[in-house]
Amino acid sequence: MPMFVDTSPPGQCIFCRLVAGEIPSAKVYEDALTIAFMDIGQVTPGHVLVATRRHAATLLDATPEEAAAAMQTAHRVALAVRAAFDPPGLMLLQANGALGGQTVAHFHMHVVPRHEADGIAFTWPRKEPPAAVLAGYAERLRAALQSGTRD
Ligand code: AMP
Ligand code: ZN
Repeated sequence: MPMFVDTSPPGQCIFCRLVAGEIPSAKVYEDALTIAFMDIGQVTPGHVLVATRRHAATLLDATPEEAAAAMQTAHRVALAVRAAFDPPGLMLLQANGALGGQTVAHFHMHVVPRHEADGIAFTWPRKEPPAAVLAGYAERLRAALQSGTRD
């Protein structure tokens, strides 16, 4: 599957330029915190990107308000995709960091209509560890949440 290759010069984020209107886009929706536009790759017809207006490299750089607004916009766009394209399935995809599959380092979420045999494939290597291991992972996360990961 061909990956998008971001060739923007350093400091000139492609989505910041798109938000500023310096490069063209097929815009779908915008509000104070987010913008939605057609992905140039169109993995399936109706494939939309929802991005923060402000440059936040990943989900972890977005404010809670931006993260919430992005999901709200994705929900809005998903309803519009259903009305306009009526796909039998729909997927949200949000990648962070090169190893997370992110190719444009400006927070965004994919809204992707899904169809039978549409060529999208993931491997999902389940491990099914024992319950004690799950409990240990949960404990680590509860401790992290208690120590205030939002700030
Ligand atoms: P990701 O790999 O999750 O970072 O997704 C980046 C996406 O941005 C790819 O699906 C590209 O097709 C898309 N993309 C890159 N440049 C543009 C652009 N100028 N307008 C619309 N979509 C873009
Ligand atoms: Zn940016």
